Amino acid sequence: MQHDKQWILIPWIAGLLIALICYDTKSILAQGPSIRDQTVNWIWPSSGVITDLFGTRRGVHKGIDIASDFGSPIYAVDEGIVSKSYYSKSYGNVVFIKHNNNFETVYAHLKSREVAEGKSVKQGEIIGRMGNTGDSSGVHLHFEVHQSEWTYDKHNAINPVLALGDIGVGAKVFANTNRVVEVSGRTQIEAHNGQENSQSTVPTQTQAMVHIVKQGDTLSTIAQRYGTSVRNLLSINGLMNEHKIFINQKITIKPAQSNRYVVREGDTLSAIAYRTRTPLAELKSWNHLASDKIIPKQVLIVR
Ligand SMILES: [Zn+2]
Repeated sequence: MQHDKQWILIPWIAGLLIALICYDTKSILAQGPSIRDQTVNWIWPSSGVITDLFGTRRGVHKGIDIASDFGSPIYAVDEGIVSKSYYSKSYGNVVFIKHNNNFETVYAHLKSREVAEGKSVKQGEIIGRMGNTGDSSGVHLHFEVHQSEWTYDKHNAINPVLALGDIGVGAKVFANTNRVVEVSGRTQIEAHNGQENSQSTVPTQTQAMVHIVKQGDTLSTIAQRYGTSVRNLLSINGLMNEHKIFINQKITIKPAQSNRYVVREGDTLSAIAYRTRTPLAELKSWNHLASDKIIPKQVLIVR
């Protein structure tokens, strides 16, 4: 019985081995270096908060969204040639860059474009300013990565986190940085540039937040909730009229400098809450804190 079983297995195993060898050879030949290997030196195209990911909206969202202040700089993720720079109804002001390793990147909804078609750009060069043009609800950068080239149906689009590092909604990213590190259970970005290394494990930039407008919200209730002013919200979001907000609109919140607190050795969250007259629950929600754990030099938004 045992003997019979072995004889039955032999052709099956031989077939499997042949299949494996063929598959392996094919995959080695077809794949080459991974996406991350080819883009390991890329930088984030802007600082801000991740507000949407690739593949959402029933798969039609072929990029990643980063929200920050109206007019904040947008950088080329790597050197290349500006392949397109124009205004479209959907992308708004948009810049395309073709890179030497054959990727093409897209930067959309810009307030302004600062490079023309055919120009060669260096990595980190400012190519435009963050805005809310085209089919966009709120100030943000929509960023796409295409292998080989952009096409109308976007079939070459790849998930930008494959190139820039895995990250989720609500995470902060800093331009001129490209590495994700884990700090106190929260995702932070490690400085890429040597000069910024002293700040590498603590976020020292103002923490922008995004509020999604719900039924009954007004700019004034939103301003009140986050300890900021209507004027501040209008200017950060490039809005002309405080009465023209709509449900699901993304409003960027960025409190003034004076509303930040740098954590000192020995501080506890409740002591900071008491000292800054910020309710503990608000302190945690504004700063996306899952627990009471804080670290020295961490910057908190306070009332
Ligand atoms: Zn988008």
